[in-house]
Amino acid sequence: MIKRNVLLNPGPATTTDTVKMAQVVPDICPREKEFVAVMREVEEGLLKIVHAEPDEYAAVLFCGSGTINMDICLNSLLPKDKKILILNNGAYSSRAVEICEYYGLAHINLQLSLNQPMDLEAVERALRENPDIALVYTTHNETGTGLLNPIRKIGEIAHTHNAVFVTDTTSTYAMRPIDMQKDNIDFCMASAQKGIMAMTGLSFIIGKKSVIEASAEYPKRSYYCNLYMQYEYARQHGEMHFTPPVQVVYAARQAIKEYFDEGETAKWERHLEVFNAIYDGLTKLGFHIYIPKEYSSGLVVAALYPDDENWDFAKIHDYCYEKGFTIYPGKVEKTGMFRLCALGAITVKDIRDFFVVFEEALRKYNVTVPVRYKQF
Ligand SMILES: *Cc1c(COP(=O)(O)O)cnc(C)c1O
Repeated sequence: MIKRNVLLNPGPATTTDTVKMAQVVPDICPREKEFVAVMREVEEGLLKIVHAEPDEYAAVLFCGSGTINMDICLNSLLPKDKKILILNNGAYSSRAVEICEYYGLAHINLQLSLNQPMDLEAVERALRENPDIALVYTTHNETGTGLLNPIRKIGEIAHTHNAVFVTDTTSTYAMRPIDMQKDNIDFCMASAQKGIMAMTGLSFIIGKKSVIEASAEYPKRSYYCNLYMQYEYARQHGEMHFTPPVQVVYAARQAIKEYFDEGETAKWERHLEVFNAIYDGLTKLGFHIYIPKEYSSGLVVAALYPDDENWDFAKIHDYCYEKGFTIYPGKVEKTGMFRLCALGAITVKDIRDFFVVFEEALRKYNVTVPVRYKQF
């Protein structure tokens, strides 16, 4: 028996015991055919999750946390003398801007509202005014707040202006249903510890083969983090160029199997029920939620800290943690917030159990319930 913790942080997510145990395998050199076959299975599953045709799209695997995907897409997919348009409405798009700055990539940082639906007029205008934009980049679910971006429309606008559309789907992939073709996505990405509910250390980019192949001619800005190099090596040898996270790949294979056993629709419905239970539980306690349900990804609830001198996030966190529930601070500067997320192998019952513990913590530390705000 492995102790079960309910992780309400935005990844890594709670995993099943079968996924945990799938890591325990006989030692194997990853260059063996047997392991290459496991990699192949994982790649095929990853494509299938987003309904990507293997003739047209490839799943390219990397050893690293999710940020490696952002780094790779940005540094590898920008042609010479072209620009990236970053649609920036949260912490993760801001990270993409930082990546552009570190590599010295020509980019436009289009600052948009952090808690309102994306202004698509502004996106259209930026593309019209800058015909040298070759890449449009957005985050599907801004995990810091839970704001959902309209990727299908953004992809359509990008394509009208002949730009490649890259979206960071790290916190939606294998949770909200995604269809590469219908959603106008050229590149998306995720990490094994989030939607597929596996372990950290394996990340993957799913993208158009024709664009990856064209990128062979683009300026090379990184050695370890180059998309074409990894793609081409996998195409020729069926393996990652450098040592893969072997045991983590076995866990990912098991997690993908469990994804298809649960089913795309049923899994998304479960996440949404968990989200609603969190949202309603917090609202009942008087918490103010940063992103209204209509604009939300249905996966992250960010609640403002109440105006109560006894509120101390660290103390509440520690109390819940002792009882097997992990809560997480927010990501919008200045505004004190915390987050509860609906990722992972958790159910509505876990959320009910959580709220018993959470309310105990509030009362123990004399936080007035329902909580109060000066502002609302
Ligand atoms: C989790 C996450 C990432 C990756 O973060 P890592 O800490 O590098 O795993 C990237 N983008 C989004 C939107 C995320 O939610």
